[in-house]
Amino acid sequence: MTHPLLDLPAVTAEDFARIERRVAALLGTAQDVVLMQGEALLPLEACIRAGAPRGSSALNIVTGPYGQTFGNWLRDCGAQVTDLVVPFHTAVTADRVAEALAAQPETGFVSLVHAEAATGNTNPVAEIGEVVRAHGALFYLDAVASIGAEPVLPDAWGVDMCIIGAQKAMGGPAGVSAVSVSARAWERFAANPHAPRGSYLSLLDWKDRWIDGGRKALMFAPAQLEMLALDACLERIEEEGVDGVTGRHAAAAAATRAGANALGAGVEPFVYEAKDAAPVATTLRVTDGLDAREVVARALALNPSVPLIAGGGALAKEMIRVNHYGRDASRHVVLASLAALGGALTALGRPVDNASARQAVTETWPGE
Ligand SMILES: *Cc1c(COP(=O)(O)O)cnc(C)c1O
Repeated sequence: MTHPLLDLPAVTAEDFARIERRVAALLGTAQDVVLMQGEALLPLEACIRAGAPRGSSALNIVTGPYGQTFGNWLRDCGAQVTDLVVPFHTAVTADRVAEALAAQPETGFVSLVHAEAATGNTNPVAEIGEVVRAHGALFYLDAVASIGAEPVLPDAWGVDMCIIGAQKAMGGPAGVSAVSVSARAWERFAANPHAPRGSYLSLLDWKDRWIDGGRKALMFAPAQLEMLALDACLERIEEEGVDGVTGRHAAAAAATRAGANALGAGVEPFVYEAKDAAPVATTLRVTDGLDAREVVARALALNPSVPLIAGGGALAKEMIRVNHYGRDASRHVVLASLAALGGALTALGRPVDNASARQAVTETWPGE
């Protein structure tokens, strides 16, 4: 008997190369794109292990939990790491990056997370890219949470390693990922004696054996299920149009923020300024001594299908995340999320204005 998840069409080297070109088009990049057969943490780690040689200096910009992870990898590679830590309710500025680079002129690697789903902020990559490029450092960007939710333009922004995954705003699979690699980055990887080789983490293996070999032979069996799903999700994005997809996420974020403000009690936007708020997900701070986990549990009891979750780790008590990404970037889901949240806060005795919240959403995001 055939099964929809088994008995799949083969994924050939040609298909693989075609999916790479599709990702390159999504990123508007002329750089090499490498598809990687693992969740986005694979290229995120691979780029650091190749791009940060022992004894080099790196600037690690921390605007959320992923930045902390990257700092740990950079240190593990033997790099001298300067952490530029920014409060999670805001974004880093190009001026702060310029100051940090001026204080550490030997910096050869700068890591940045574009948007953080975990904290709900987004950083001005174009402006930061200008500063990093002027300095001459390699620019590493985690665009996993921004791709599909807002423009991601590695070539225009001078990004040397732009890492994406499909599982957030692209509405695709989590088991594959991709990275665009600039010519400068390939040169620095090749010059690093400790860059992974003969390893699942090795980007240089992909360069030597796949790209420079003319993309004729895959190094190992393709992750068939995930590659087919990635191809399908790229096709769906092309059908809607990238502007359509990013526009939907921007509208979901604006409407969620407006609705949360209109509730008038119990929650407020976690990210202070709307310009620093990520289109991929909206984070809310609970007020009045509430516990975010309790609010979320009550909201999910009212409607288990809404994409609400309490913050991770140290933020669990104070933060609620509204993960309005992928198919959940819809007016219907935003309205349902605020209704569940409003219902939970009402049950907890907070004087929320559910009608105003609903009106704020529909005014901010009219029709659909
Ligand atoms: C989601 C995300 C990733 C991927 O990590 P998972 O937790 O495995 O989904 C990487 N970076 C950022 C900024 C993310 O938001």
